[in-house]
Formats: sequence, C-alpha cells, structure tokens
Amino acid sequence: MLDGAIRRRDSEPPGAKFVLPVSGLTVAIHRATGVEDVLLAEGRADDAALALALVESRAWSCEIVDWATLPIADIDHLVVRMRQSILGDRVISDTYCTDPACRSRMDVSFGLDEFLAHHRPRRAPARGRSWAAEVSAEHGWFIARSRGGDEVAFRLPTIGDLIQTAGAPTPDKFLAQACIAPDGASPRSRALAERAMAALAPPLSGPISGRCPHCAIAVSFHFDARVYCLRELCDRARFIYEDVDTLAQRYHWSETAILSLPNDRRSHYADLARQARLAAG
Ligand SMILES: [Zn+2]
Repeated sequence: MLDGAIRRRDSEPPGAKFVLPVSGLTVAIHRATGVEDVLLAEGRADDAALALALVESRAWSCEIVDWATLPIADIDHLVVRMRQSILGDRVISDTYCTDPACRSRMDVSFGLDEFLAHHRPRRAPARGRSWAAEVSAEHGWFIARSRGGDEVAFRLPTIGDLIQTAGAPTPDKFLAQACIAPDGASPRSRALAERAMAALAPPLSGPISGRCPHCAIAVSFHFDARVYCLRELCDRARFIYEDVDTLAQRYHWSETAILSLPNDRRSHYADLARQARLAAG
C-alpha cells in the first residue's frame, strides 16, 4: 500500500480547494467514480488502508504527496470531506440513554463542519497549559517540554503508521516506539508526548455529548469520524455491481469504461436503462 503512493496530480484542482488542518497542505477532491465505489464495496470501514486507498484515488494536490506520510487527522479530515461531498454535512444517527432505568432511544444529529471546527489543532499555548512544544531540528519531529522539567521528542503518527499497527501484536506500543523518542521514555514523558500530539493533531474520534430528552441525564457516545463515514460510504457503494450489470447489458460497455464514469452520470444512465427495461416489460 505504501509503494506507489507518490504521484503527481494534474495542475488544475477538480473542485474547491481547502487546507488540511495539521499539515497545512492545500488539497481538493476529484469527483467520485465507480473505481472508488469498488474500493469501498470490497473494503472494510475499520481498515485504515481503505481510507488511504480512497485518498490516493480521489485527493488532489498541486504538490507531490506521499499520502501515507500524512498525519492520521488529515486523512480523517479528507474522509469526512468526501462523505460531505456525497452525503452532505448532517450526521443523523441514534443511540440509547445510558441510564438503566430509562434506556430510551435518542436521535443524534450534528453537522460535520461544526465537528471539524471543534477538532482543529490548538497551536497557540493554551492558558494554564503545563507544557510547550516546538519544532525540532529533525524534519517532522517536535520537542515537548513540561514545566516540571520533562523533555521528550515526538512526531505525529501517520496513516502509514496506523496501517502498520494492524499487524503489530501491541499497536499502542508500536506507535509509541515509532513516534516517541527516546525509545523507553518514562511513562510521564510518554504522557507528555501524547498530550502534545493530541493538541497539535486532535483525533477525529471521541465522545459526542448530549442530554437525554426523556430523563435529562447527560449522555455521551463514541464517534469515530473515519469509521462512521467510511461505513456509510461502503453501504452506499454496494449498488455499483447492479449499475455495472445494468449498463453492460444495455450498452455493452466494458467494466473499465463504466467504472470510469463520474458517479452521478453513471447513476443517471443506470436509471434510464432500468426504465427502458421496465418499459420493454
Ligand atoms: Zn434517559
């Protein structure tokens, strides 16, 4: 997956450009085609490699980018943007009240733009923060120092790191060894590095809080933006096989030609083909 990740994109962006929150890279997103639908239909939403494959296929940058080296939060941001481009901004889901006496079903609804804004990196030192981080002389690395005199070097975990943890017996230990120096840093130094990482690249997963409309207690549920959005896109993408079958029968186009069509145009042709089939009885 990591091989061949470096590619040069065409010079003109395919749509509105935006800036990734952690790396500061300016990107845009190509219109989705059946190629991405096949990736989604045959992938697993909880597989970080699927997120990377999707980004490699659809993300645009005027720079040469090895997408596997981007921080996890930037890849997750791109996945959320892709979901917005296909299914819109609003997340509508449900959960159950955590009070055993209530257990009422609750609707959950929020906007992804608002969610992304809430998870932007906090670069400026926060008031009362007991540590500071600065860029290290080594490319991609930072030094975090606490008021108590602890010092630790770290880099931000990349999507490539996350994919490699899938085969590691202890994923957290693997990530710490890859991203925190020295190897074997004290638990306090490791905690300092992890606090700094979370501030510079806030993960797009965590609790969403609200109040139960029935019993009014505070409730929260875990939301992992990448997995949630990929699951929605995977479910939607399974229609690709039906579209290919319908269009191949009607127009005798090859699978490659059908998959290369933008999704909205392919769906339109597929609808026409189904209508023609119905009309023919
Ligand atoms: Zn309740």
